[in-house]
Amino acid sequence: KQSSSSSRNSRILVFVRLRPMMKKEREAGCRSCIRVVNRSDVYLTEFASDSNDYLRLNRLRGRHFSFDAAFHETASQLDVYSTTTADLVEAVLQGRNGSVFCYGATGAGKTYTMLGTVESPGVMVLAIKDLFSKIRQRSYDGNHVVQLSYLEVYNETVRDLLSPGRPLVLREDKQGIVAAGLSQYKAYSTDEVMALLLQGNKNRTTEPTRANETSSRSHAILQVTIEYRTRDAAMNIINRVGKLSLIDLAGSERALATDQRTLRSVEGANINRSLLALSSCINALVEGKKHIPYRNSKLTQLLKDSLGGACNTVMIANISPNNHTFGETQNTLHWADRAKEI
Ligand code: ADP
Ligand code: MG
Repeated sequence: KQSSSSSRNSRILVFVRLRPMMKKEREAGCRSCIRVVNRSDVYLTEFASDSNDYLRLNRLRGRHFSFDAAFHETASQLDVYSTTTADLVEAVLQGRNGSVFCYGATGAGKTYTMLGTVESPGVMVLAIKDLFSKIRQRSYDGNHVVQLSYLEVYNETVRDLLSPGRPLVLREDKQGIVAAGLSQYKAYSTDEVMALLLQGNKNRTTEPTRANETSSRSHAILQVTIEYRTRDAAMNIINRVGKLSLIDLAGSERALATDQRTLRSVEGANINRSLLALSSCINALVEGKKHIPYRNSKLTQLLKDSLGGACNTVMIANISPNNHTFGETQNTLHWADRAKEI
């Protein structure tokens, strides 16, 4: 059993999930450059550049990383959900805010982990399912209202994925930063939620050159608000609101800035601003800075009340075993390793 996010809320919990090698990759002769050991350790192996040289094949320039948990390619969706997010759902029911991010290169398994498929629903759906069953188990004399919104940040434009239309404007109000006009759905059943999210995912921006393919630069954010309302003995209304944000981030392959200098130099190249801003915020949190640059992007503005501080934050770094994406995997692991320090 992993340590619970509530007992260690002073920092981000960081997990790694390795996806299986795809049939196509195996047929193309790809090798695995990752080993997951002891449910927490990840070994990255760099093969010699000439992969035909069998004598040098296994000469390691590898590295070892250790995380709150590391999921082997056979880990089930439920495994991943229970270890990474279940405690957070409990905290949100208590009125806290929490967020779960999937970070990693395109093709590493972020959408599979977050959304999943009808047969194997991912964290988003399992979290809501769990939420419903936890609410049902509680015999409070109050009531819970669960509302969902699903939105996208693409190219610094915020869009409603459940009610597509004009871009949304971010406003600051009493509750923090909100997307004005964002639709809220009252959720009743898990099946309904899966259908809603699958539909929403179809509304994500597609790459102009590749119709039907979700853009690797699109961030999808599911926000679940749970409002609990009851009266105390003196008949005063008690209102408790918790918010859970589940985020399928854009592909990290072109956003590897780890310091401000790199940040500026790639900005001109129109690299994903929101992803870089998220990295900067995480760096600032790691360094214990007073000023966290939330204002630098739409994504970080939206998540201001769900990152750092009193929030429970979970990071799932998705990696592929494919040795041809060694560089991306290494970057993802380095990033995740750094996030651990928050
Ligand atoms: P990303 O969203 O990071 O670009 P995807 O989630 O779309 O990546 O995953 C890429 C491919 O790998 C998809 O075909 C997906 O179904 C498959 N895949 C990813 N993770 C797993 C997993 N844990 N088990 C089985 N298939 C997976
Ligand atoms: Mg995806």
